Amino acid sequence: MSTLSNEHVFYAFDPSLEPALRIAQGEELTLETMDCFANQLNSPGDEVDALDWDRINPATGPVFIEGVKAGDLVRVRLLKVEPTGHSTMTCIPGEGALADHIEASETTIIENCGDAVVLPTQRGLLTIAAKPMIGVIGLAPAEGSVPNGTPGVHGGNMDCTVIGQGAALYFKAGVDGGLFGCGDLHAVMGDGEVLVCGAETPGLVTITAEVIDEPQLPVPLVETDDLYAVVASAGSIDDATKLAIDLMFSFLTKVAKLSVNDAGRLMSLVGNLKFCQVVDPQVTVRFEFPKSVLQQLGYPGIG
Ligand code: CA
Ligand code: ZN
Repeated sequence: MSTLSNEHVFYAFDPSLEPALRIAQGEELTLETMDCFANQLNSPGDEVDALDWDRINPATGPVFIEGVKAGDLVRVRLLKVEPTGHSTMTCIPGEGALADHIEASETTIIENCGDAVVLPTQRGLLTIAAKPMIGVIGLAPAEGSVPNGTPGVHGGNMDCTVIGQGAALYFKAGVDGGLFGCGDLHAVMGDGEVLVCGAETPGLVTITAEVIDEPQLPVPLVETDDLYAVVASAGSIDDATKLAIDLMFSFLTKVAKLSVNDAGRLMSLVGNLKFCQVVDPQVTVRFEFPKSVLQQLGYPGIG
């Protein structure tokens, strides 16, 4: 059992980063994460203008996973995803999918209360069920440096609402050790993240990581109790949608070994195409498919 404090953060997934910590496969690690503003906003009076924008989207890490070789498929299990402190939201004129409508900057502090968050509104306090999730999570790419705000094949800022406690994520290691990191938790967020933020919160994330033998697996892929979801990011919704559909088709035919037309019929009958976020230069879409259907067809699950 290891822990890594939020003093160890990076701002771009990069194969040349020095590991902050090494863990064994299967070893539990708890990472302390900062919110996407590096915990800089702590009261309604803390304006976004005063933010140090060089400290946006910190991810805690990087973590070297022993025994992981470049090209390996890695499963990261999210044993715990727990908000701490308070959540924050910002309205910023000109930002996000509501850019033209938001006229005044505003910082809102939202109380995290276990199963719920309490949002101050003009009509009083509103209690909303919490559904904690991780915005930024991934491994270093094989080459280049990807800022944490950008999603991609390596993971990164996918802002995908099914990446929560109990989920497993699958990535392909770009370098030996994988160089894992995560941050940008949301106590709750809707699909699309239209304002460019969820209930941004610091938190604690407990993981294990291991190499798996499933060379055909499309990545990044999320597995929850109920579903598999492939996550696709691209410069347009059209391109991300096409990619998500292709990745799920590949999973169903190459990994679960369904026939082409069975995969097509089932994707159309019980598959669900959903938005993750539509507000970053690279947008993210996912394709969800129910595990129960594949279980009925004899697919035992990912190695
Ligand atoms: Ca995010
Ligand atoms: Zn966020």
